[in-house]
Amino acid sequence: MIEGRSLSWHYGENEVLRHVDLVAHPARVLGLIGPNGSGKTTALRLLYGALRTATGEVRVDGDRLEALGPRETARRLAVVVQESGGESSMTVGEMVLLGRAPHLATFQRTRTEDRRIAGEALRRVNAAHLGARAYAGLSGGERQRVLIARALAQQASHLLLDEPTNHLDIRYQHEVLILVRELAAELGTTAAVVLHDLNLAARYCDDLVLLHGDGRVARAGSTDDVLDPVLLTEVYGIEIERIEVEGEIHLLFRPGDGTRHEERTA
Ligand code: ADP
Repeated sequence: MIEGRSLSWHYGENEVLRHVDLVAHPARVLGLIGPNGSGKTTALRLLYGALRTATGEVRVDGDRLEALGPRETARRLAVVVQESGGESSMTVGEMVLLGRAPHLATFQRTRTEDRRIAGEALRRVNAAHLGARAYAGLSGGERQRVLIARALAQQASHLLLDEPTNHLDIRYQHEVLILVRELAAELGTTAAVVLHDLNLAARYCDDLVLLHGDGRVARAGSTDDVLDPVLLTEVYGIEIERIEVEGEIHLLFRPGDGTRHEERTA
């Protein structure tokens, strides 16, 4: 479980988050949603300690994140962020093996077991064929899958992902989020995912936190509760309609049509 309590952040005059509470539960997928610039990435960065705030606190399974050393943090939290490591000269296989570092003693070489785990992680993201390639030479979508494999190899009980579906074509967008769900279901992993696609959030998240542009939480709760079309229309400034097909929520967007919703529901 990851609990962020009363998290605030500002960049200069720009107050990005104001006393935001976020809780990600084991065996569940929490989605962070909201318009561009609403603070989703900032909130996630606070949750994994890349940013530290004096105004609130983050606890991982009850322990204060600040009190965990970098190694213990890396054993507990695996993070997938955009485009990291693009400048490196490593192969894909080496990149994924880095995920094993928190499990090795300082200067200890990787063991057969580490290589097996890294290979298995690459297979899970359908990237085993990329193992010998140079990481820097991959496409954005291939890199994204390799970074997810690195996170899997880390075998942390908490997985945090910042827009993991960026650069991916539709099939892989779904495969990545299906994988996150499987980890939650099979291993009880706590997952927190920044998503800008509301339909992916609808399909794959158990819980959502909807951030408002003003730094506050517009609503937090179950996916069903947060994906309220009236609230979403207000927060995103575009008319959003919700329909359900075979029990699945789908959102439809109607740009430049601020009056139709009232007309239809009148
Ligand atoms: P989101 O992920 O919802 O798009 P971000 O957390 O990336 O939002 O950004 C929130 C706000 O903080 C935006 O207005 C953004 O321009 C600003 N911001 C983000 N990172 C920085 C930074 N390093 N320096 C200054 N402002 C930043």
